[in-house]
This record gives sequence, C-alpha cells and structure tokens, in this order.
Amino acid sequence: MKTLFEKIAAREIPAQIAYEDELVLAIRDINPQAPVHLLIFPKRAVPRIAEATPDDHKLLGHLLLKAAEVAAQAGLKNGGYRLVINNGEDGGETVPHLHCHILGGRRLAWPPG
Ligand code: 5GP
Repeated sequence: MKTLFEKIAAREIPAQIAYEDELVLAIRDINPQAPVHLLIFPKRAVPRIAEATPDDHKLLGHLLLKAAEVAAQAGLKNGGYRLVINNGEDGGETVPHLHCHILGGRRLAWPPG
C-alpha cells in the first residue's frame, strides 16, 4: 500500500509542490506551524530515519542538501530556519514516510515542546 507521501508524489492526492527532482519532493505542509512550513521527502518510501540503511546514504545526503536549497528558495537563507525529522511516537511522527520539516519565517522557540 502506498504511503500518503507516495500518493502525493504520484499526484493521486493534491499538494502545493515547492521542488521536485527524480529523488525527492518538497511540498507545503497542510497545517503550517510557521509562516514557511515545507516538507521534503524521498519519493522512495523509507518509513523513518531509524529504519534507514547504508543503501540510503546517498539519498539522505541528497535530501539534506536539497532541504537547504529549498529553504533558500523560500527566502529563509538570511533569517535562518529549522530542519526537523520526527521519529516514532515520542518524536511526534504521524506520517510513516521519512520527511524533513523546513520551518522558518519567525523566531522559533528552543527547546521544542
Ligand atoms: P510528522 O508529524 O509525521 O513529523 O509530520 C507530518 C506532517 O504532514 C504534518 O506536519 C502534517 O501537517 C502534514 N500532513 C499531513 N497530511 C498532509 C497532507 O495530506 N498534505 C500535506 N501537504 N501535508 C500533510
């Protein structure tokens, strides 16, 4: 069965796409927690970072490099931003398809709640 993000990548569920290449897709979060809230994820479903394997090495490097590019494209380079990967229940993961949140456009609190 396809994950939510696989369905979005396949255009079976609509989303506002910010960036796409052969390996990753970046979309606007449906429930933004900051003025800019994007999600970037590999098109190939890795359930969560804890289940990534050495085979995912290149993919994960690509994901992070593109996260920085997408953040810059969204105008966040000067003000700064936060990248977040929630893993498992205590981490707040709700979609079991690895994704990185890109949050910015306001001063973010630390530590997170
Ligand atoms: P998680 O809680 O797993 O780290 O993040 C999942 C994120 O996906 C949440 O921020 C949530 O708002 C977002 N999300 C859930 N369903 C959809 C959807 O159908 N479309 C979009 N664009 N974002 C979604």
